[in-house]
Amino acid sequence: MSTADTLAILDRATRPVVEAVTDLRAIREQWGDLLAAIERPPAAEWPPREARGFLDQLAAADHRAEDDDQEQGEARLGRMPLTLRQHPALLNLDALDAAMNVERALFDLADTLAAAVQRPVRRRPSLDIPSYSGRTAPAPQRTRMMVDGLDRDDPARWHYAAPTSPGSRAYGLHWAAVWIEGRVLGEDRGDLFGLLTPRMLDEAAAVARRARADIERALNRDGRTTRLETPCPWCGGELTGRTRAGGEPYVTCSTGEGCGAPVILDGRRRTWRGAELVGLWTAIEAAKQRAA
Ligand SMILES: [Zn+2]
Repeated sequence: MSTADTLAILDRATRPVVEAVTDLRAIREQWGDLLAAIERPPAAEWPPREARGFLDQLAAADHRAEDDDQEQGEARLGRMPLTLRQHPALLNLDALDAAMNVERALFDLADTLAAAVQRPVRRRPSLDIPSYSGRTAPAPQRTRMMVDGLDRDDPARWHYAAPTSPGSRAYGLHWAAVWIEGRVLGEDRGDLFGLLTPRMLDEAAAVARRARADIERALNRDGRTTRLETPCPWCGGELTGRTRAGGEPYVTCSTGEGCGAPVILDGRRRTWRGAELVGLWTAIEAAKQRAA
């Protein structure tokens, strides 16, 4: 076999692992944002609300007077619900749909993988001693096979949902994603898990890819472009906000070099990125105040 053939085989074997792990981690990182988005009304405004926490943090560095608000914000973050069931308010149905689809997809995938590679709970012999009144000879002891409780309750196990119990689903999406990642990586847990076949690895990668895309679409992080309703505060040009999957948001002004905004020209358009967005945001808010 040539080196190229060997490399091709290695690539075929590792690519779904790398892709699945990358997507599963991106899902976990954005899950809290998606749950938080369910409680907010959807808005066709820019920056996406989800990006504003970042902008607020930058702004807070300049506005120490807002310390109290910031502390309240952190307290809210600490109480952020991590499972769908705990959600009190429901304002963004797209975000809720995405969250439910993603949860279902990952829970189902974990069920499928567990059925394929998780060792069933061990049974061990247990002495069954009948009651003995003392008047008659004891019956011969019988040996019964009992479920091994320690093995059954091994925290590394995936537990299926049953009519009386949600099983591992009770621990939410984070745990499902971590558990799936362990199987994809072939994490060693003694004889508890076998290895996934290439076909199961491909399936895991496909489910994770779709789930990540669902989340990023619901959070407006899938590279969409939004025309801002407010004109450029410096020149009155049209502002366009863009978000790229996994990338930072940025805004461009349609005017070009003629725009006097204090940011660099990128591709002959004034472009705001990172901390500069705070300046743009502040200027937009000030313009709205003047117009009101
Ligand atoms: Zn402009």
